[in-house]
Amino acid sequence: MIPDNIKMIPKSIRSNQELIQEALDLGCTKAKVVLTQTISMAQWVKLHCQFGCSKYGKLLTCPPCTPEAEEMAEIINEYEKALLINVCPDANVQEIVVHLENSLKQKGYFKAFALGAKPCDLCDPCTISTTCQFPEKARPTLQACGIDVKSTVDKNGWADLAQQEPCSDSHTIGMVLLS
Ligand code: SF4
Repeated sequence: MIPDNIKMIPKSIRSNQELIQEALDLGCTKAKVVLTQTISMAQWVKLHCQFGCSKYGKLLTCPPCTPEAEEMAEIINEYEKALLINVCPDANVQEIVVHLENSLKQKGYFKAFALGAKPCDLCDPCTISTTCQFPEKARPTLQACGIDVKSTVDKNGWADLAQQEPCSDSHTIGMVLLS
């Protein structure tokens, strides 16, 4: 029987350290639980996808298949917190965020959703004209959903990582929307 005073404590507050530790145990070099109000959305991000990325229009996890910044801002408003992670350059950030998403769902965060760092490379080519071959694994990147990654990590105290180029081969920052 859980005492009434414990029941009043939101699950996310009681579990922050546990969530961070789980991310670190998976090989993340940094992890922190952040407020979604610190996630920077920007319309200009789409320009960098549309006119600067060879994946534009070729993956189900990239624009224009992904939510635009305005829609994503509304989606993010439905979450209070997110788990922000950074991994080693040689770690598979996509696998780690998907693993965390699944684990968090099992812990009761039924809305958990992973956002990756690199364009999906699970199929070659992507079956963009039909349906996704691995919907349980394919997740969009932060930038593909209109998130200004540099600003977001800078706001959350990771200025040393803010120079990374989103969606590049060396990008190592992911996120799981929590609750
Ligand atoms: S898993 Fe395959 S079909 Fe799905 S988005 Fe990735 S490359 Fe495309």
